[in-house]
Amino acid sequence: MKVLYRLLGAGHQAFLVGGGVRDLLLGGEPKDFDVATDAAPEVVRDLFSNAQLIGRRFKLVHVRFGREIVEVATFRALSDGTQAPTVAASALPKRRDRHSDEPASALSEEGMILRDNVYGTIEDDALRRDFTINALYYTPADFAIYDFAGGLKDLKARQLRLIGEPEGRYREDPVRMLRAIRFAAKLDFTLELATEAAIAPVKARLLDVPAARLFDEVGKLFLHGHGVKSLTLLRQHGLFGLLFPEVEAAFQAQPSALALAEAALASTDSRIVEGKPVTPAFLLAAFLWAPLQTRASALKSEGLRPLEALQEAMRDVLHAQQQHTTIPRRLTTFMQETWTLQSRLQRGARRAEKLVLHPRFRAAYDFLVLREGVGEATEGMGAWWTAYQADRETPVPHEHPAEGRRPRRRRRRRGPNQGGEA
Ligand code: ATP
Ligand code: MG
Repeated sequence: MKVLYRLLGAGHQAFLVGGGVRDLLLGGEPKDFDVATDAAPEVVRDLFSNAQLIGRRFKLVHVRFGREIVEVATFRALSDGTQAPTVAASALPKRRDRHSDEPASALSEEGMILRDNVYGTIEDDALRRDFTINALYYTPADFAIYDFAGGLKDLKARQLRLIGEPEGRYREDPVRMLRAIRFAAKLDFTLELATEAAIAPVKARLLDVPAARLFDEVGKLFLHGHGVKSLTLLRQHGLFGLLFPEVEAAFQAQPSALALAEAALASTDSRIVEGKPVTPAFLLAAFLWAPLQTRASALKSEGLRPLEALQEAMRDVLHAQQQHTTIPRRLTTFMQETWTLQSRLQRGARRAEKLVLHPRFRAAYDFLVLREGVGEATEGMGAWWTAYQADRETPVPHEHPAEGRRPRRRRRRRGPNQGGEA
């Protein structure tokens, strides 16, 4: 409201838009707030002491309030994403009119260099958005909600409808298919018929999206409390296999692979409800576990020793996945440690005292318990470690028969599982 009123006070238009309006209308709590205005980014920045100009492709202003950031964007027009506008934004009559009080140089520079950064009217801005329910604008100028795309009707019907012609809108930005699934899972909405039907003919275009952007989307799909549902919907629409081909193949070959992925997602979903930290590394370790086993077995049958086979398989499986979604280094390290520790944990009690202090012990233990839960052959070691930690006095069987009772130690206090990776 502070941002909106400051903009209005300076004579500009100012609207709350996107997920902020949508989630408030649904009675939910918005994740973040986006503001749209007719003021140019530089003008917005100068209105706030706590504001920063960001972005190269799209210039935006971030207004910071403590840890919260309100993103303020200038009304933009649709760009079809395939060809650059032939004229600069400031040269378009309609747009020049709207911004005639602003320095033309900044605008023409923007429009010329940044092909998507073409300023427009609020109607243009609404129609370039993805779903109708994401194109609702609220302004305290008249306390009204402006609906340029039929979003209120769709919100009532609890459905996701792409603005415009669906196939074309997906082609423009194939990530919108993932966003459709994400919102359907998060809001418990259905996909409107044409919005759903257009996925099948266009879905392979997802392969053209940069792997880094897909990694970001994967995080949003699976790390916001509705991961199980996201996976189900992605698979129903044949999208999961485009993001994780080897994992999808494993799901189809062995039900336990799917069970493990679902168990990891369910555990992540409930950790989020409990306010505990989560990391994509744990999920990715679960997703890729079955492909890893398949690859390691193949390498062993080629004559590699188990540890060598595991190490080579880890490299292969990670490399193959990174062609589809990048995985940052800190995450692959986490995954490799979690995987490598599985056999050490399964070997059991030997050097338990030391193992329990390993920085990745907690994640590896959680992972072992998940595997045990879906019926993998873990020789009951998951349960053993549970008991071991519950009472560190548990005598360690076999290896230390003479030692008897061990001195009680305080259980270590650490963020379970994640070790600050979230
Ligand atoms: P949430 O923040 O809860 O995930 P959101 O709808 O706010 O949901 P954002 O990614 O924050 O999603 O984007 C804000 C708004 O920007 C969206 O509501 C939509 O209007 C627009 N938008 C975002 N991504 C796209 C896209 N790929 N194509 C078209 N419009 C988009
Ligand atoms: Mg948002």
